[in-house]
Amino acid sequence: MSNKFIPIQTIQSLPNDLDINRLASSPLQVPSGQLYDTLLRPLHDLRISVTDRCNFRCTYCMPKDVFNKNYVYLPQTDLLSFEEILRIAKIFVAHGVRKIRLTGGEPLLRKNLEELVHMLSALKTVDGNSLDLTLTTNAALLAKKAQNLKDAGLSRITVSLDALNDHVFKQMNDVEFPVEQVLEGIQAAESVGFSQIKINMVVKKSVNAGEVVPMARFFKDSPHILRFIEFMDVGSSNAWCLDEVVPSHQIIDDLTKADMPLIPLPAHNNSETAARFQHLDSSGELGFISSVSQAFCHDCSRARLSTQGKLYTCLFASHGYDLRQHLRNLSLDQADLKIANLIQSIWEKRNDRYSELRGMANDSTFTDRQKIEMSYIGG
Ligand code: SAM
Ligand code: SF4
Ligand code: SF4
Repeated sequence: MSNKFIPIQTIQSLPNDLDINRLASSPLQVPSGQLYDTLLRPLHDLRISVTDRCNFRCTYCMPKDVFNKNYVYLPQTDLLSFEEILRIAKIFVAHGVRKIRLTGGEPLLRKNLEELVHMLSALKTVDGNSLDLTLTTNAALLAKKAQNLKDAGLSRITVSLDALNDHVFKQMNDVEFPVEQVLEGIQAAESVGFSQIKINMVVKKSVNAGEVVPMARFFKDSPHILRFIEFMDVGSSNAWCLDEVVPSHQIIDDLTKADMPLIPLPAHNNSETAARFQHLDSSGELGFISSVSQAFCHDCSRARLSTQGKLYTCLFASHGYDLRQHLRNLSLDQADLKIANLIQSIWEKRNDRYSELRGMANDSTFTDRQKIEMSYIGG
């Protein structure tokens, strides 16, 4: 993909405002099977946020001073129903999506989520294969739900875990949630048959950087894949600053100094967010998601569907395109075709590459602009 990359000259060319009314009234098209954006990136992944609520208050995502008792969450009627999610997902799949990730907020807070998993697991890709259907969770409720999720057809699972030390973990989740229960959730997922669980650790220099080595040791001889994520400037409320980011190369150095040298592994595919590594003296795999120090926009094949049914073409977007209005205002067939048409037009005009441009920008006005919150759009 990278050799087909078309450079964009100016930061001013973002964001790409589309005339939604014009798009919505243009002739209807049949789903394409394969879509490319202006940078020749295919549409392969869809992340669906099923709730904007969460039982944690991770300081880098839903800080307590903003997400407090006065914060207004979406009313139930605003949320896409499972049937609505299925209809939109089906259209995305007809446009070439192969992987769907359920996220939030905390997706396991959405009542009967396993029913949605069951519905989505019946979808087939344009090549006739099963979807790669996965979920990212803080695992607070995983011990209770793992079996149902497995039975419903969930293919894989990602668990967020920022520390092993209980005190540090509680500082990160900010709701006094004990680390033991997350570990029990991982154990439960393992025992019902989820293998190679991805473990996401966001590293904030002043809070949990000291947990990097213990986490790597803990997962070294397990089948799970620990992934270090650079603290990102998502949303507008997490008080992001570059000083708090621990770049991936620093973590690799720290692990080497702690007698855990790593060797790189080849990528499974171009659009993989994590660079893969392996311990030199064990088969334990690790991943590095370096969205700040080494942007990977050139291969980004991800679309995001918000809890309310808005389509976002970038994690750092400031606006989305309302698909739900068509589901609720048009007849079944008309709505499906209109949405298919819209997705195609939006993706074919997509030129997002925020993280790459952030790296080139030399003042804070770029990162300071209003962005959608991660808890609303999903990670
Ligand atoms: N609540 C679920 C969870 O935490 O796994 C799913 C939603 S959460 C928004 C998805 C992922 O985004 C998590 O792995 C979380 O650690 C990551 N995340 C949230 N805010 C982030 C930030 N500012 N920088 C980097 N990763 C972040
Ligand atoms: Fe909740 Fe996940 Fe955000 Fe933490 S990262 S506050 S668990 S949505
Ligand atoms: Fe994709 Fe936007 Fe992230 Fe770049 S910044 S990798 S375009 S989501």
